[in-house]
Amino acid sequence: ERTKDLRSALDKVKILNEELSDLSTMDQVTGVRNRRYFDDMLDREFRRAKRNQTPLSLIMIDLDHFKSINDNYGHLAGDVCLKTVSQGVYDIVKRPPDLVCRYGGEELAVILPETSFEGTMLLAERIRHHIEQLKIQANDQLISLTASFGVHSVIPSDSITCDDMIQLADEALYRAKKEGRNLVCSSALGS
Ligand code: GH3
Ligand code: MG
Ligand code: MG
Repeated sequence: ERTKDLRSALDKVKILNEELSDLSTMDQVTGVRNRRYFDDMLDREFRRAKRNQTPLSLIMIDLDHFKSINDNYGHLAGDVCLKTVSQGVYDIVKRPPDLVCRYGGEELAVILPETSFEGTMLLAERIRHHIEQLKIQANDQLISLTASFGVHSVIPSDSITCDDMIQLADEALYRAKKEGRNLVCSSALGS
């Protein structure tokens, strides 16, 4: 009887531990995964894609003029916007290995294993359009906003690292900002 009790107590501890470790990978404001989880998963998917020689894609998303949303509507309304956008992205990105994370303040990152460049561009465009047409209710007001996107796809080899991937997606995102925002740019030349 005592062994049985002990086993059931241990099972409970194990479940609690799993719940705790799951919680520690979540971002509290947005309800999507956090940066730490992103770093772990990008590394894991990068190595998997290299082994299998399959494409791995990354979308970096940065909300446009978000500082002025906070300034105009307040920080709490800004948080509601962040959460609504994150959940919207989460709902659009559906395949089991796909991952949506909060990369930083008003930045999201999407990891898409086994997804081609073309497929990634389509998905990014779908997310861009979704965000553009959102009307987010906060403080009795309806808030509209847009986001800019940087896409990078690669079949990993020895000559590229995870950090290179992030940097290339970031450079594309920077170009989307420079070219007027509410845009998807990729690291491929000329697009
Ligand atoms: P850009 O179009 O160039 O990206 O302009 P921006 O205003 O979005 O860019 P900037 O990097 O200057 O400012 C980011 C702002 O995002 C700063 C801060 O006001 C807001 N922000 C960052 N994290 C949070 C957060 O957790 N909650 C809220 N409400 N706002 C945040
Ligand atoms: Mg930013
Ligand atoms: Mg921004």
